[in-house]
Amino acid sequence: MHSSSHPTHTSSSAPNVKADDTALLSLNEAKEKIASLSKHKPAHETLALTTALGRVLAQDLISPIDVPAHDNAAMDGYAFASSAASATDEITLSIIGSALAGAPFQGQVNNGECIRIMTGAVMPAGCDSVIPYEKLSAQTDTHITLPAHVGSPGAHRRLRGEDLQRGCIALKKGRILTPADLGLLASLGLTEIRVETRLRVAFFSTGDEILAQGEASEHGCVYDSNRYTLLGMLSRLGCVAIDLGIIPDDAAQLESAFRAACQQADVIITSGGVSQGSADLTRLTMSRLGDIAFWQIAMRPGRPMAFGTIHDGTQSALLFGLPGNPVAVMTSFYFLARPALLRMMGAELTEPLLIPAVTTTQLDKKSGRTEFQRGILKRNLRGQLEVSVTGTQGSGILRSMSEANCMIVLHHHQDQVQAGEVVDVALFEGLI
Ligand code: AMP
Ligand code: MG
Repeated sequence: MHSSSHPTHTSSSAPNVKADDTALLSLNEAKEKIASLSKHKPAHETLALTTALGRVLAQDLISPIDVPAHDNAAMDGYAFASSAASATDEITLSIIGSALAGAPFQGQVNNGECIRIMTGAVMPAGCDSVIPYEKLSAQTDTHITLPAHVGSPGAHRRLRGEDLQRGCIALKKGRILTPADLGLLASLGLTEIRVETRLRVAFFSTGDEILAQGEASEHGCVYDSNRYTLLGMLSRLGCVAIDLGIIPDDAAQLESAFRAACQQADVIITSGGVSQGSADLTRLTMSRLGDIAFWQIAMRPGRPMAFGTIHDGTQSALLFGLPGNPVAVMTSFYFLARPALLRMMGAELTEPLLIPAVTTTQLDKKSGRTEFQRGILKRNLRGQLEVSVTGTQGSGILRSMSEANCMIVLHHHQDQVQAGEVVDVALFEGLI
């Protein structure tokens, strides 16, 4: 993280900005620098379980009860004592009552006796096993006959606390709550839960050529897509996404956008204006308002990026100045911004799971940089996971992301890959 570029000039290219450009960072170096500045500031709120999906658990959740609270039947059938059964003979038991889920049998089941029991009903005193109807040798209204070899003790019985034991950690702090987690919390009788407050992320697009939807199409202009992909990715991550629109290459407008973002948000994400060839205004404004480094990262797409802290009065916010190309925005977000945002959210860091797959074509790649190619992963007729690139891989071709279901990750030291070789892929699904 460079802090020497603050403050700097507004009228000409600042030499210190240029100096930063010469350093080529590996993806891992960039990640480490980002990690050292992205800190979690704990702030909690209590939410109804019904609104907590995707939120970050603020503390370890200790189970207040055993789940299930009692030994109970896993099948409809008859509950009996396994000690009564015989390995060699059929045994007849008399039916002395019944237990339903929510209506337990109150008495004691003695030798030679059993009760009719339904799934979920509490196992009565004296019984340790359940035999389902279809396994009985015979039955009347008053008696059942167990076959020989009726099964081991504890058959079709669920034990108290087998799902969760009282006093144990049911869910860990930092967990991003899934549908299963909501159900699990509900099974503990909870209706509310302490979660981290949502991270606030302001974002805007920069560039004179960027058109807002609804504006008449003009020669040399493009409709803004980056704010929409960013909105989608931030929403999936559970951030409060604050859309500050499109800011043209104008010093005053850029400055007020950065200041407004700083006042409202913990993190600012911009797109455009950070590559070496860009009009320098965005870079200069960033430098003037904060401690910003301009990186060239050994990754593709997503080579240029600005990173650091923007200040406005007593407020400050972490800045990710992403490149303008639409695919670069997404790869930089997923592989550089996302881990930092998760950390700041107080969430456990989940790196995307890399899955090995056979590439159907040769993949050109230079050693010394990480490349992310867009792929379609499927299972081939031989049952192997197989990945194909989605056509042209230009960093402006957003269709390649839209068609893909995964990113082919070609690692830093990897070289050209031949058809039939195994590569790592990261499924989009796992990125939330
Ligand atoms: P830059 O990083 O500003 O040099 O932009 C690189 C490329 O991305 C240029 O072709 C821009 O027109 C394009 N670009 C920049 N911002 C956006 C945006 N918000 N939506 C779509 N394309 C963009
Ligand atoms: Mg630009």
